[in-house]
Amino acid sequence: MLNNDTICALATANGMGAIAVIRISGPEAISKVAQIYQSKFNATKSLNEASSHTIHLGYVMDGDTIVDEALFSIFKNPHSYTGEDVVEISTHGSIYIQQKVLELLNKIGIRNANPGEYTFRAFWNGKMDLTQAEAVADLIASDSKASHEIAIKQMRGGFSNQIKDLREQMINFAALMELELDFSEEDVEFADRSQFYNLLNQLQSILKRLADSFAFGNVIKNGVPVAIVGAPNAGKSTLLNALLNEERAIVSDIEGTTRDTIEETIYIDGVGFRFIDTAGIREAGDSIERIGIEKTFEKIDNATIIIYLYDANITADNQIANQLDDLQRRGKILFNVANKIDVNNNESSISDAIKQEFKDVVHLEISAKDHYNIEALKENLIHQIKLKGSNQDDTIVTNSRHLEALQNTLSQIGKIKQGMDMGLPGDLLAMDIREALTYLGHITGEIDVDQDILGTIFGKFCIGK
Ligand code: GDP
Repeated sequence: MLNNDTICALATANGMGAIAVIRISGPEAISKVAQIYQSKFNATKSLNEASSHTIHLGYVMDGDTIVDEALFSIFKNPHSYTGEDVVEISTHGSIYIQQKVLELLNKIGIRNANPGEYTFRAFWNGKMDLTQAEAVADLIASDSKASHEIAIKQMRGGFSNQIKDLREQMINFAALMELELDFSEEDVEFADRSQFYNLLNQLQSILKRLADSFAFGNVIKNGVPVAIVGAPNAGKSTLLNALLNEERAIVSDIEGTTRDTIEETIYIDGVGFRFIDTAGIREAGDSIERIGIEKTFEKIDNATIIIYLYDANITADNQIANQLDDLQRRGKILFNVANKIDVNNNESSISDAIKQEFKDVVHLEISAKDHYNIEALKENLIHQIKLKGSNQDDTIVTNSRHLEALQNTLSQIGKIKQGMDMGLPGDLLAMDIREALTYLGHITGEIDVDQDILGTIFGKFCIGK
C-alpha cells in the first residue's frame, strides 16, 4: 500500500441520502481541493489559507460550472483521522453529485482509495494501533448494543494498553539479561530472577484471562447460541415461534417434522440470542431424521445455553433427571423447561426433588402455546449471560488473530519458565523473551506485521473507511 499520494472516496453509504461526505486524504488534499473550490461569499478566498478544523461554505466547481453547494471541512496533518491533511466535502446526497465530485477529484489527480486505506494510513501514521484499527471494522459491523460496547472499548485502547504495559516490563528484563552478557566474566545478575519469575506468573495469568475471554467475547459479538432440545412434540417449534413472536418454524402434530435445524436471532436487552430449534432427541428410524439428530448434538456442543424442553403432562421425573444429567455434563448454561402446563391449568409441575438434584439448572414452567412465562424465560436468559459476563475481565478479546498471538505468547512464557527452572544462562533466556515479545507486539502491530496480515485486516473494510 502506497502512502504518499492523495486519495478520495465516498465516506457515507452508497446510494441517495440527505447529504453525502466525500473524504480526501494525503499531502495534496488541501491544495488539490482548493482547485475545485469557490467560496460562496468571497471569490478570492482560497482553501490553501484555511486553518485546521474549520468549515467553509462554497461551491464545487467544474470549470465555470457549479456542481453543488457544499461544506468543506479542513483537518491538517497530524490532527486528522489518518494523520494526513484531510478535506471532507459534504455535498447534497444525490448519486449524480457524488459521482460527479469523485470524477472531478480523479480528473485533478486524486486517486480512488482502496478498502480500509484511510484506517491503514491512520495505523501507519501512529494514530491508532492494530487492535484499534480492527475495532473500527468491528464498530462498523456491530449490530447489537453488546457488540458495539466491546468494539468501542477496544477502539479506545483498553486491550492494547494492557498488552503494551506488560511488554514494556518484559523488555526491561530482556535488556537487563542482555546486559549481563557484557559482564559475563564477572558472573553478575542484573535481572533479579525471582522478580522476573513473578512477572512471568503475573503475565501468564493476565494473558490466560484474556485468552479465555475470547470464547465469551465471540459469543457476544456473534450472538449467544441457544439450543432448544427435547423429544419430538415437546413444543420446541412452538416455543421458538413464541420467542420470535411469529410463525417461522413449522409446527405440526406429526412427530419429527422439525427435520432440519432452524436458526433465528432475537435481541434481549441489547444482546443477540441465536435460537436453534433442533430435531428431537430420540432413537431415529429413518435416515433423514438421523441426520437431524446428529445435527442436534453438534448444535448442543456449539451452544452456550441449552434449553431442555419437555411436555410436562407426559414426562416422568426419572426421564427428566436422565436428560438433565446427560446435558449437564456438557458444561453449558442449562435450562429445564416444563412446557404445556396450560393443559393442567398452569399448576406447578417441576418437582422439588428435581429442583434439589439440579441446583445449578434454571427451572421454569411455561406454556409455549399461550405464551405463558415466555417473558420470564427471556429475563432468565439475559440474566444468565450477564452473570457469565460479570465473571469476565473488563477486557474481552473478540479477534482470532489476537487469540493466536496470546496463545503463542503463553506457550513461549511456559518455555522461559522451564528454562529458568533448568538454570539456562541469561543469553538463551533473553532469546526466548525476545520471541515472546515479538508475539505480544503482533497484537498491537508494534512489531512488523506480515504484509499479508495487514492486507487481510484492512481489506475487510469498506471503501471510504
Ligand atoms: P416440536 O416437535 O418439539 O417442535 O413440537 P411442536 O412445536 O411442533 O408442537 C407439537 C404439538 O404440541 C403441537 O400440536 C403444538 O400446538 C402443541 N403444543 C406446543 N406447545 C404447547 C403448549 O404450551 N400447550 C399445549 N397445550 N400444546 C402445545
